[in-house]
Amino acid sequence: MSGVNLTREQSEKRTQSGSLFYWTGHPFVDAGLVAILLIAGKKKPEDLTVEDVEKAISFAAELYATKEWSTKYIHGMIFPNSGILMANPSMGKKRSPTSIAENLQSIFEELKSSDNDSPTCVLCGRRPAYSKKDIYLSVFPLLGTGGVPNFFHSANLRGADICAHCVFLAQFMPLISYRLSRVLVIHAYPYELMLELSKEALEDIKKSKLASQARGFRRPENFLFHLVGEVTRKMESSEFWENASVTLYYFICNNQNQILDLIHIPTPVLRFVAYANYIDPMGWKRIVAMGWRVLPDENDFDKFERERRNVVYSRLLNNESILSYFYNSKERKVNTNWNLLAFYCQEVLGLDEKILEFVKDVGDRIVETIGMLPDHKLDDEVRSLERAEKLYQFEAFFIRIEKLRQNLGIDKPLMTFDEFARILMAYGEDVSISWKTVKNLLLFRIYEKLHDRLMKSAELDKIEEFGADESEYSIYGGGNE
Ligand SMILES: [Zn+2]
Repeated sequence: MSGVNLTREQSEKRTQSGSLFYWTGHPFVDAGLVAILLIAGKKKPEDLTVEDVEKAISFAAELYATKEWSTKYIHGMIFPNSGILMANPSMGKKRSPTSIAENLQSIFEELKSSDNDSPTCVLCGRRPAYSKKDIYLSVFPLLGTGGVPNFFHSANLRGADICAHCVFLAQFMPLISYRLSRVLVIHAYPYELMLELSKEALEDIKKSKLASQARGFRRPENFLFHLVGEVTRKMESSEFWENASVTLYYFICNNQNQILDLIHIPTPVLRFVAYANYIDPMGWKRIVAMGWRVLPDENDFDKFERERRNVVYSRLLNNESILSYFYNSKERKVNTNWNLLAFYCQEVLGLDEKILEFVKDVGDRIVETIGMLPDHKLDDEVRSLERAEKLYQFEAFFIRIEKLRQNLGIDKPLMTFDEFARILMAYGEDVSISWKTVKNLLLFRIYEKLHDRLMKSAELDKIEEFGADESEYSIYGGGNE
């Protein structure tokens, strides 16, 4: 990971003359740096002083010496048997804030060392590997237990080649982690975003002396999406997320288990979720609510969000379309406005603006046509589009609308032959831009424009138990041919 194109001499000069710490791009190391910055109330590593570091050491040592932290959290979930943080249960008697602080201090002292015989750190690529301790999972989470020759590709029998800077910072990572059923570290870029998303963990620790439980959220992605909404509304702008990149590290590292889930939130998804929260928070809530098997009522939404897996979130993270969640087909109404739908299509699905305008225009022509029908006929036509599961059924819908236009005496055809070919063929079966995308967009437009009338006809259905009248139907052409 020596993406930094500097020789070690050059970079040492820079770190000696410059700051104590620097961002590395490694989630656990950066997390430790965030913790120290937040404790110091600062934003940039270059602003940190030795006093800030000492303050962070004593803050951490105080907590880590407690039983709740040492055995349950540090030993049980992050650094099993850590000698540095004295998390090994057998160390219970000797464990004290002072001894933990001394251990941390001694690694910090090593930052000044320049042992040129050591290999370079594999995480930051800037400093010689720390050689006073074997570097396994008790020192750095998820590294493996070692114990097998050539466990590490560097063939270093003393563990991974990680420098004192990176080892030191990783020890502070628990302070900004959230404790769900596993440990959650939110790595984000730009780094000010990481500070923003992590500060709640530290604030909770200050209040309760316990690791933050992320407000009882049980799923890391739900918590993150919730935070995105909050931050956006607080900033009163969605631009904060413009070039943002967020990855969730959801792991557990103890003597029985080493598990890591890596959840990357694509930048377009972040931008979209932020924009949605910014321009139509209620609409976004309605969209998300459809991602649960049962639609929550107003009071249950928060509970569901904390506890249950949400399909809308999962689909966003898996690069699958959520277009059908933009409307509620049972109630035939839209959950938000065309504006947000268009933003989603362009930003996340990558749909061309012109194509989108074209489909919207076709949608309006369909609305113009079926809008002239009596209520129950209108209902039939919309239903045939809703039920189109195969391409030929979708095609049949357009042919029926075309005939309707002729029968109703509307001058212009619904589409030219070229347009017809375009809407049906040009998008193929591509996951994001298939004819099903077009179908969803058209339904959205129809519900948006004709909701009231569609619901009126549903009401009529209920009251009169309307039977389809064949002769009347033939006036408007169509039927399933
Ligand atoms: Zn390093």
